[in-house]
Order: sequence, then structure tokens, then C-alpha cells
Amino acid sequence: MQAMQSQMDASKTPTSGSVSKVSQSVLEKKTSKGTMCSRFWKLVSKTDHCWLWRSVLDKDGYGKMKISSSSKQIFVHRLSWMIHFGEIPEGLLVCHKCDNRECVNPDHLFLGTNAENSSDMVRKNRQAKGESNGNSKLTIEQVIEIRNLRLSGMTLVRLGEMFGVHYSIISDIDRRVTWKHV
Ligand SMILES: [Zn+2]
Repeated sequence: MQAMQSQMDASKTPTSGSVSKVSQSVLEKKTSKGTMCSRFWKLVSKTDHCWLWRSVLDKDGYGKMKISSSSKQIFVHRLSWMIHFGEIPEGLLVCHKCDNRECVNPDHLFLGTNAENSSDMVRKNRQAKGESNGNSKLTIEQVIEIRNLRLSGMTLVRLGEMFGVHYSIISDIDRRVTWKHV
């Protein structure tokens, strides 16, 4: 019976050695090394754009961290999403708008399906947006203001609302993917 039980558990976690999410109680559980949240923040370097993970990366370049009281690991961009926004809905992936897999900046993360996570698709989509209306909708003055407000810490989503554009357009301005000359 016990053997059967463990076999069933194993079949539920095909990616052995890593899990896709942890509960809030695990995040806040104190161990000798601190909570997962406190360990997470110690290993993040914030830049003006991306927040970089300074510890272990997997073979594909995604940051990983050990789960408290477990031998398993979790992807830190998913952990960051949980810390900032809570539960990840079943079946959805946490994807990067910035194409930087080490990045854990919640402003750079979005929930997507497997297809949307294909970085190629994301990139093409973003290029199309930038060329069609991303540049023409805003004035130079607005772009300068957006960059200044970003420096003062305003989020991409908030700026998108203020200027009536999608936050990916703000992100591109912020990272000088568009409006490089300003
Ligand atoms: Zn980023």
C-alpha cells in the first residue's frame, strides 16, 4: 500500500527535483536559514530594469532556489510572482516580458500559456506593437516623463494606465528597446 502511494505521488511530479509552486505557509516557514522570502531577497540584485538572481541557475538559465524543509527546488521567477501577487492559477506559466530568464522583477513577469511563453512569439508580438503604434502614440515629452517616473519607482502597469498604453510599451521605452534616441 505504501509503495503504491509513493508511486502515485511520483507520477504527479514528473519534473523530479523541482516543483512549480509552494503554499504561502511554506514561503513564510522559518528555518535556521530564515524564511524562503528572506533567503530570496538576499540573493536578488536590483538594477534599474531587471532584478537579477545571483544564485543557482538551471541549464536553461532560469534561477532556482531550494524549498524550505524539502529536497526540491522552485524557479525563482515563479517564487517572485507568488511573493508579489499570490497564487499562480493552475496550468499557467510565469513568463518574462524582458526575455531575461534570471530576472525576478515582478513588473517584468506575466502569466501566460505554454504557447505564449515561447520567447520568439513574445518578441515578435512586441516588435509588431512597437512598430505599429508603440512609437507613434506617445510624444517625446511623454517618453521623457515615463522614464523619469520609472526612475522614481512607478510600476510599468501604473504608467501604462496613466498614458493609456499597454505596459509592454512602457517596458520597451524603459529598457530603450524603443525611443532609443530620446
Ligand atoms: Zn527583467
